[in-house]
Amino acid sequence: MDVDEFRKRGKEMVDYIADYLGNIEQRQVYPDVQPGYLRSLIPEEAPEEPDMYEDVVRDIERVIMPGVTHWHSPYFFAYFPTGNSYPAMLADMLSGAIGCIGFSWAASPACTELETVMLDWLGKMLRLPGDFLAGTEGEGGGVIQGTASEATLVALLAARSKIIRLIQSDSPERTEVEITSKLVAYSSDQAHSSVERAGLIGGVTMRKIPTDDKFALRGETFRKVLEEDKRAGLIPFYLCATLGTTPSCAFDNIIELGPICTSESVWMHVDAAYAGSAFICPEFRPLLNGVEFADSFNFNPHKWLLVNFDCSAMWVKNRSDIIGAFKMDPLYLKHDHQESGLVTDYRHWQIPLGRRFRSLKMWFVFRMYGLKGLQAYIRKHVALAKEFEGLVLADGRFEISADVILGLVCFRLKGSNDLNETLLKRINSARRIHLVPCQLEGKFVLRFAICARTIESRHVQEAWAHIVQVASEL
Ligand code: PLP
Repeated sequence: MDVDEFRKRGKEMVDYIADYLGNIEQRQVYPDVQPGYLRSLIPEEAPEEPDMYEDVVRDIERVIMPGVTHWHSPYFFAYFPTGNSYPAMLADMLSGAIGCIGFSWAASPACTELETVMLDWLGKMLRLPGDFLAGTEGEGGGVIQGTASEATLVALLAARSKIIRLIQSDSPERTEVEITSKLVAYSSDQAHSSVERAGLIGGVTMRKIPTDDKFALRGETFRKVLEEDKRAGLIPFYLCATLGTTPSCAFDNIIELGPICTSESVWMHVDAAYAGSAFICPEFRPLLNGVEFADSFNFNPHKWLLVNFDCSAMWVKNRSDIIGAFKMDPLYLKHDHQESGLVTDYRHWQIPLGRRFRSLKMWFVFRMYGLKGLQAYIRKHVALAKEFEGLVLADGRFEISADVILGLVCFRLKGSNDLNETLLKRINSARRIHLVPCQLEGKFVLRFAICARTIESRHVQEAWAHIVQVASEL
C-alpha cells in the first residue's frame, strides 16, 4: 500500500467506522458464535502472496463482526463502560502514525512532555492536591499506565521497595528476602481481582478485610487487622483502597483509612478505576476526599472519560518512590539530558520499557469536549442510572441491592439466587441487552451499568421493559 492508496483506504475506513458506530444499535449486542468459530473461517496459514485489500475489508463483516461483542452499543450494560469518542479515535490514528516508543524524554520529547502536562490538566480537573502534580518543580506527578491493574502493581512494588529500604537503613543486617517474607498488604473484600494478583506477582501476603453494610472498608476494622498482624510479627506496608468497587460501586472510607496509613508508614494506593472520572464534577468530588493521605492515586480515563483504551492515569506524591523501585540505566538508553533534573524518563515509572503516545488521546478529548462537555457526559450517565433505579423501585417484585451513587445499578428479583441466575441467563440468551452479575452478601445480583456514549433514556426504558417481560415469563 503506497501513500496514495493509504489516503483512499483511510477515508474508506473512516466511513466504515462512522457507519459501524452510527448504526451500532441495529447489531445484536452479543454474538451467537461458539468457541473456535473463527479458525474455520480463515486459512490455516498466512498468505504467501499479498491479499487484495478489498478481500481483507470484506472479511471484516464475514469473519470479525459475527464474533464481536458490541461494547459501544446502547444495549450493552455489562462490566463498566469503556471509553470511545471520535476525537480519541482520531488521536489514536495519529499516535499510530507517529509510532514513537517514548521510553525516555529523548526518545520523543513531545510524547513525554504532553503526557506530563495532560496528567497535570486532568489532576487539576479532579482538584487533586497540588502534591500530586508535576508543575514545573513538584516532587509528584502523573503517568499513563496501560491499565488500573498495572497501576496497582507498580504502586505495590514501589511500596515494597520503599519499606525494605526504610527497614534496612535502621537494620542493615536484615535481608530483603527475610523482610519480604513478613510484608503484608491489604484491600477490602470488595477490591478488584487485580489487587490480589498484584500481591501474588509482588510475592507478598495480601489480606482481604471485611467491609461494612455499604460494602466500604472502614478505619476501625482496618486498624484491628493491622494491630493483629503487627503483634504476629508481620510488617504492614500497603493498602489498596477502592473508590467505586467493581461489584457495586462502593467507596472505601479513605478519610478514616488515610491517617492510619500515614501514622503506620503504610503506603495508601487509591484505585478509582471507574469512579474516578466522576470526580471532575464538583458534586461528586467529595467522594475523593481523603486522597490527600494517599501516596498514589489511579483511575481509568479509558473507562468513563471518552478516551479509548488504553489510558490509565496514575499520580504519585513522590516520584522518587517509583523511580527508586524501577530504575535501570543501560548505556543504550542513556541520553544527554537525563541527569539535568529537567526531564522525565517514563520508563522508570512503569513495568515495560516501550510506551505509546497515549496522551494525544487525552489532549484531543479534553480540548474537543472541554471540562463542561465531560461533566455533562458524566451527569447524563448518572441521571440515566437514577432513571433505571426508579423503574426498579417502582416494581415491587424487584429490589435494589446497593446504593446507586454513579452509573451502576445493582438489582435483583426478590427471591432465590437460582431465580436470579435464571433471570440473567434468559436475559442474556435473548441477546437484546447484555448484563453481568455480581455477588453481594452471598446474594446473586444483576449489575446494570450505563455504558455507551450514545445511550439515551429510550434505551434504558427498552432494556427495563425487556427485563420485566423476561421476569414475568419466569
Ligand atoms: N479496579 C477496579 C475497581 C475495577 O473496576 C477494574 C475493572 O473494572 C479494575 C481495577 C481493572 O481495570 P484494568 O482493566 O484497567 O486493569
